[in-house]
Amino acid sequence: MSSKHDILTDSFGRKHTYLRISLTERCNLRCSYCMPQEGVPLLPKDHLMNAKEIFEISKLFVEAGVNKIRFTGGEPLLRKDFPQILEQLGTLPVSMSITTNGITIDRYIDLLKKHQVKTINLSLDTLDAEKFKKVTFRDYFQRVYDNIFRLIAEGFHVKINVVLMKGVNDDEIVEFINFTKTHPVTVRFIEFMPFDGNQWNREKTVSYNDVLAKVHQHFDDDAIIRLQDAPHDTTKNFKIVGHLGTFGIIGTVTNPFCDTCNRIRLTANGQLKNCLFSATESDLLTPLRAGKDITPIIQKAVFGKFAMRGGLSTPEQFEDPKEHTENRSMIRIGG
Ligand code: SAM
Ligand code: SF4
Repeated sequence: MSSKHDILTDSFGRKHTYLRISLTERCNLRCSYCMPQEGVPLLPKDHLMNAKEIFEISKLFVEAGVNKIRFTGGEPLLRKDFPQILEQLGTLPVSMSITTNGITIDRYIDLLKKHQVKTINLSLDTLDAEKFKKVTFRDYFQRVYDNIFRLIAEGFHVKINVVLMKGVNDDEIVEFINFTKTHPVTVRFIEFMPFDGNQWNREKTVSYNDVLAKVHQHFDDDAIIRLQDAPHDTTKNFKIVGHLGTFGIIGTVTNPFCDTCNRIRLTANGQLKNCLFSATESDLLTPLRAGKDITPIIQKAVFGKFAMRGGLSTPEQFEDPKEHTENRSMIRIGG
């Protein structure tokens, strides 16, 4: 008989101990790489997991071996019951973290501290207020920027996520690295990834190698240190000698890290996705509401995970926008 832990092991022996939960499909920004231009149809509230259901599903995953849960979205802090969700999950033996656009995070500092959330992943694609408006279609640069300093002052480790796009913000790579000179943050450059409706094409992606080439153009080779990455880390980490902070590159498009993947995702409407790029999902919410045991559904979904990028294993498949139309847009998955 299989133990509960086995339900999170796939056919390639990868153990999935990291659950990313999308709390909402709503957002107060409109980042062009994430949200389709026409917007997304919002699901009625009763189609979304409520706080109790999020707790019940999370508890099951934690009992099966999940030791880390990340809240994402949409913008997770738009959930009015976010404090309640954190309070409930705080009773489980699991570490909690959040990915946020940072607009309202200052309101939750005490709550996050209370629940031992030590690192905040905050998305900021530009250090230029005008460009921020163009990328996000909203005027919140100053709030987000100020909140980075507030978080640092409160003792959080801030990881700044920067989605690089050619001709948009690739001219700011060095500026972002210089930001780590006097600020103890980690800047993570993310390759722009294809999702339904995000106008992706390979030409717009700034690759892992492009970033490194820029770094080597600007800094002496001796000053660039390649750091040891944590197990399962999707980021290749670096530091410039003498800088307080570090930087890294997440190369999903040109340097996939699927062989060490330990992540599974739960969408806001309770669908389990075994991969960011999988076109299929497994409904956990409907059977949970019907009082059924969802363990076999989880086991089947995890076991059926493809070796690489939801089955889009060749660069040709992955880079063909038609291959992504069956998947959701990023805002509806939770990055
Ligand atoms: N609203 C929160 C935020 O922006 O941090 C959480 C949700 S957002 C979908 C999670 C992360 O996915 C963000 O860091 C965002 O920059 C990243 N992201 C969204 N679309 C992406 C894309 N097409 N390629 C790469 N990263 C993307
Ligand atoms: Fe909203 Fe985050 Fe997507 Fe931007 S990246 S639209 S902040 S969910």
